Amino acid sequence: MKHQPRQSFKSPRFAQPATFMRLPHVVDSSGLDVAIVGVPFDGGTSYRPGARLAPREIRAQSSLIRPYSYFQKVAPFERLNVADVGDIDAPPVSIEKCYDAVEAGIGAIADAGARPIVIGGDHSISLPVLRALARRHGPLALVQFDAHIDTWDEYFGGKYFHGTPFRRAIEEGIIEGGRFIQVGIRGPMYGEADFDFHREHGITTIDIERVKEHGIAWTVEQIRRLVHGPAYMTFDIDSVDPAFAPGTGTPEVGGLTSHEAQQLVRGLAALTLVGGDIVEVAPLFDGPGQITALLAANLMFEFLCVLARTGDPHHG
Ligand code: MN
Ligand code: MN
Repeated sequence: MKHQPRQSFKSPRFAQPATFMRLPHVVDSSGLDVAIVGVPFDGGTSYRPGARLAPREIRAQSSLIRPYSYFQKVAPFERLNVADVGDIDAPPVSIEKCYDAVEAGIGAIADAGARPIVIGGDHSISLPVLRALARRHGPLALVQFDAHIDTWDEYFGGKYFHGTPFRRAIEEGIIEGGRFIQVGIRGPMYGEADFDFHREHGITTIDIERVKEHGIAWTVEQIRRLVHGPAYMTFDIDSVDPAFAPGTGTPEVGGLTSHEAQQLVRGLAALTLVGGDIVEVAPLFDGPGQITALLAANLMFEFLCVLARTGDPHHG
């Protein structure tokens, strides 16, 4: 018997401690196909802090989501055993200690045979998640939705913050440049040299101008053409325009709409996905109605439906 969300006609949507989509909270990932897990850490943030508060808020905003996707034609809880495994207790004052805790926590989920959907946290937390998943699956392909490249080298002399995770991941050999695609990149840069690392490692960038010029279907086609083998999705909410997603730490104007973001995530259904995350939601900067956390919760649902439609690399 697979876990199911609480039924809204038996338990009011606003009742009970908040879990993702009102799923059961379990502490052991054994028997799960997908584990929802929070990483409330924002010690890698360079501007407005607060992503540590996102897992709780996104869970609260997920209470309205109904269990069937009319647009993806899938009922994920009929196909997958899914539960909310709570948060990784990431130490808040040391990024290295946080990384150790996240790698261990995600490693336990992966060892149990479950695919994680991670609620960040700032973008620095994707690195230890990738470390844990690459240990199980080998070097990964990566689909990154983001306004920012996050392949810079360092910050105040430190190698780890939310602007460096994917440079470190390439250097560590846990993602491959030729299977790494970034979508939605925009905003002022430091200079053309920001892309030297991309050229050196064959990283593909579809900046926001190309997304808007060629459209979502074309963008999805590029992702599908490039990404093969075990793949991870990382969704930085600042890829979405701050008019739709103001609750984030480093907002950049001129981004995706909420609807484009939904369509892009749906477009990943052909990939072999080993997990994914949604990061950089900062609830204290959110707009009325918690629209950013609400969008993040709904994008997680779209991603869960994608996982229900696609093969698990270890379960066929
Ligand atoms: Mn980012
Ligand atoms: Mn970003």
